Amino acid sequence: MKMTQTQFDQIKEQIVRLTAMDRSFYQKKFEGVDVDAIRSQSDFEKLPFTNKSDLREAYPLGLQAVPDEEIVRIHSSSGTTGTPVVIPYTRQDVQDWAEMFKRCYETAGITNRDRIQITPGYGLWTAGIGFQTGAELLGAMVVPMGPGNTDKQIQMMKDLKSTVLCATSSYALLLAEEITRRGVREEICLKKGVIGSERWGEKMRRRIAKELGVALYDIYGLTEIYGPGIAMSCDYECGMHYWTDYLYFEIIDPKTGEQVPDGEIGELVITTLRKQGAPLIRYRTHDLTRFLPGECKCGNPYPRIDTLIGRTDDMIKVKGVNIFPGQIDEILKEAEGVSSEYQVMIDHLNGRDIMTLFVEGESGVDKSKVETELKYLFKARIGIAIAAQVVGIGDLPRSEKKSTRIFDNRY
Ligand code: ZN
Repeated sequence: MKMTQTQFDQIKEQIVRLTAMDRSFYQKKFEGVDVDAIRSQSDFEKLPFTNKSDLREAYPLGLQAVPDEEIVRIHSSSGTTGTPVVIPYTRQDVQDWAEMFKRCYETAGITNRDRIQITPGYGLWTAGIGFQTGAELLGAMVVPMGPGNTDKQIQMMKDLKSTVLCATSSYALLLAEEITRRGVREEICLKKGVIGSERWGEKMRRRIAKELGVALYDIYGLTEIYGPGIAMSCDYECGMHYWTDYLYFEIIDPKTGEQVPDGEIGELVITTLRKQGAPLIRYRTHDLTRFLPGECKCGNPYPRIDTLIGRTDDMIKVKGVNIFPGQIDEILKEAEGVSSEYQVMIDHLNGRDIMTLFVEGESGVDKSKVETELKYLFKARIGIAIAAQVVGIGDLPRSEKKSTRIFDNRY
């Protein structure tokens, strides 16, 4: 993607400021970089990437790029996989984030007449509060539930006539199934679902949409870059619009670090354009996506990235072939008689990889016929032989958190 002159000026100004700051994160990171010599997009593309490990090393407040009195809040990514990352925000950062989030709601046609039930968590991480400040700026009525307590969720949904549900895909599915099970769908006023924080398949989307009777929208974001709200899908369900006045996106080959041609799948790399508390330059998200060419039919002038295809670290190599979870979703979409829920087990026995796909079959399907079709589709689309096993609806675990679906038992 071509960088605009405004974006270049914003980035350059930021680099000059950050590298001039004594003992700052980027003064250290860009040691030896001739800042004056950065005169074009291609010079910018030679700058080193910023990695999550750099952010962890800066724990707790090494990323802070303004004086203490300008910081109004911090957020932190969960520390389940190591030292957490702490991101300080200025008042301006908090306002900018809310503005982007408001734009996301507007992109989905949500207005100040809506009642927005927020189920992502509140606290150190960015989910709940991001959904809330954006909704308040929009002028909608917020029902700040946070996660869990399904009884209360459904009760509030009925009594307060919530029109918008914000949730992870797995929690939306859990709620949808529960509403169907209790037979209370007629009492629910939901019209739209804003689904964030994990990659999810087309089939799961259709199930949630059908069971809840709503239109669904994808929202994207990560704690390191504000939080959710930096990209959003529209009515046309063709990728997500992202906000080029706040962020600059690149798509790179995760192996070589080089830009991939527009339209090809690669890793999303983000540079913040206006962030004060903890600006990031060329931050590697490890999310796989691609730029979508052309203008969107919805008329929104902001460009689009595709819905997430997977994580660079979810990329698994089986029998020498790279597989993305998104490809499994595609196959399940094509197969008849199966739901969107699946688990994959990979083992190594007698010197070779064995991949077993467990998938939920709709009631009354001929299991062996479905298994044969899945094996055929894997061979035809991905090029490897697998074992397939169809189980009953509800037999695979549901979760209120990000679902783990691939279990690699080889190492
Ligand atoms: Zn659009």
